[in-house]
Amino acid sequence: MKKIKIVTVVGARPQFIKAASLSRMFAQTEQIEEVLIHTGQHFDMNMSDVFFEEMEIPKPAYNLAINKLGHGVMTGRMLEGIEAILLEEKPDLLLVYGDTNSTLAGALAAKKLHIKVAHVEAGLRSFNMQMPEEVNRILTDRIADFLFCPTDIAVENLMNEGFDKFDCDVVKCGDVMQDAAFYYAQRSADKLSILNKLNLSKFGLVTLHRAENTDDKHKLTAIVNALNYVHANLTPLVLPLHPRTQSRLKDNQLQLNLHVIEPVGYFDMIELTKASTFVMTDSGGLQKEAYFFKKPCITLREQTEWVELIQAGVNVLVGADEAKIINAANQIIGSSLLDFDKELYGNGHACQTIVKHLLDNF
Ligand code: UDP
Repeated sequence: MKKIKIVTVVGARPQFIKAASLSRMFAQTEQIEEVLIHTGQHFDMNMSDVFFEEMEIPKPAYNLAINKLGHGVMTGRMLEGIEAILLEEKPDLLLVYGDTNSTLAGALAAKKLHIKVAHVEAGLRSFNMQMPEEVNRILTDRIADFLFCPTDIAVENLMNEGFDKFDCDVVKCGDVMQDAAFYYAQRSADKLSILNKLNLSKFGLVTLHRAENTDDKHKLTAIVNALNYVHANLTPLVLPLHPRTQSRLKDNQLQLNLHVIEPVGYFDMIELTKASTFVMTDSGGLQKEAYFFKKPCITLREQTEWVELIQAGVNVLVGADEAKIINAANQIIGSSLLDFDKELYGNGHACQTIVKHLLDNF
């Protein structure tokens, strides 16, 4: 069998986590050679390097160091940089994850050069075209040749958009983040725990970074007020603070009065999630990790791509509404009758399914 040369583009924190399991499997597969491009979208030690180190992700062959720019300039520069590498590397396939500018730039650069495109985490929709992520994922899906979907609903979304009539493979494979959670949960247990440092027994874990919240002063203020209230009156909250949120809080002179810590690595994040009583977040990935570790989740958004969590009754959407956030926290603390046993995201074999499909179809 001919060797398949794959160029993978990553750039942001959730993509490092998604790539970790699939890159490991590619490395174990004789017929696959993978070359990694890091666009540099996230670049700090605690937003990038820590994931490559602790999750043993292969060192990227290229780092484009493109960051801290507006959407247009960032995507344009990535497109240019990735195209030059593709012309040099001449891969059989370009693989991208999720919904960032790096995802779209990678897919577009490859498609214009007639290189096949694989999109992992295809078919997700929030149906909110104001979100840059929604634009990126819809455009990437449309030009992808292999659409690897994490859930039944993702497949359904694509069928509703007519993908059964396009010349592409739509494959339900489960969620690569579940593969990562299963694999690394065992390894992170050996590590000196962040919990010792925090010295807390009961707490809610919070993350907040989505532009729709951080870039809207009204929403950000409501969320900050609600979090401060919950921490002061209901239960301690721990929040590893995303750099974008940190700078928006400063711009708007807002103060979080809870356990704010630096962004943490994936192993620490698993420890925190496992030890928390509930999760409050606007992150896509963390909503599912809450489920993997059987924690209820309050989602600080108006919509979610992970609709099955809402249907299962383990996740509630509260947007940026102060009263709704506090009310949800009140209800969720102490709730114990939730069912986390449905297999919503596959069984940790998403990467295997992806590799098999690629080997069978090249
Ligand atoms: N995460 C992490 N450290 C942190 C905050 C989040 O490792 O301080 C992980 C989290 O566990 C999840 C991923 O980052 O696996 C989610 O990324 P993010 O929330 O940045 O993006 P999204 O999932 O919303 O695209």
